[in-house]
Amino acid sequence: MKNTKDIINLIKDNKSIALLAPTFPIDFKYPDIIGMLRHLGFDKVTELTFGARMVNWAYAQYIKEHPDQELFIASPCPTVVAFIQAQYPDFVKYLIPIVSPMASMAKIYKQNNKDYKIVFISPCFAKENIEAPKYKEFIDAVITFKELQEIFDAEGIDEKDFNRKYYFDSLIREYTKIYPISGGLATTSHIGGLFKKDEILITDGIESIKKALEQIKSGEKEYRFLDILNCPGGCIGGPAINNKDLPIERKKEIIRDYAEESSKQNMGKHQGKVEQADGIDFSANF
Ligand code: SF4
Repeated sequence: MKNTKDIINLIKDNKSIALLAPTFPIDFKYPDIIGMLRHLGFDKVTELTFGARMVNWAYAQYIKEHPDQELFIASPCPTVVAFIQAQYPDFVKYLIPIVSPMASMAKIYKQNNKDYKIVFISPCFAKENIEAPKYKEFIDAVITFKELQEIFDAEGIDEKDFNRKYYFDSLIREYTKIYPISGGLATTSHIGGLFKKDEILITDGIESIKKALEQIKSGEKEYRFLDILNCPGGCIGGPAINNKDLPIERKKEIIRDYAEESSKQNMGKHQGKVEQADGIDFSANF
């Protein structure tokens, strides 16, 4: 395990921002978590929703610009990308070469706040070990939900002391809060109008992904858009979630309840605006 002391020092000794992965409500109460992270030393706390909104936009653009491409594979999950690269190299060309919401948000945030250290708080190890190292310029550190809980315990930061109204700092956007549920990307990225219903496959878990790729290879299925994630139920099944053993349906309910509850708040000046992402390169290289 990494030295979390170094990360705590990075947070406390610098201007810092926490980028919370959208699975956070499974482990941490909203909005109390915002107060807890500020108490830990973060100057700002936000989530990935605006980054996801820009990824959606970039996906739709890419698909429209490649009308002759027979298959598109969404690529926000580094485990899925690594699996395809290793086991299905012929499919790499179908991975949509757009960064994930994590990298997108880190890039947007760095552009608007150059002097901030960015710490991503992750439900899995793949984001830290496979993906974040590619974006060292934008992401200064990654901690998992499990590590965050250990840090809270060590620092005596307890949820019960933060039962007040807190608001995320900029930049946020509402409708992408369901992104970590399997199919959240396909639902929020407005690709429905670009494909027929039976051309879209939403699935999770390596075995199901393998099956789908084999079906495409053999010509048994003619999917054109794959929204596929490694973990059961999507990122809500991430291995570094403290409450990872909760039933999938309960996890989905938690995310949906959070999306509904938080959407009642007025985002006001905290809402991310497209111009704040002006000039940012959202392309990825697989
Ligand atoms: S599906 Fe799992 S491995 Fe992939 S990004 Fe989400 S939490 Fe990480």
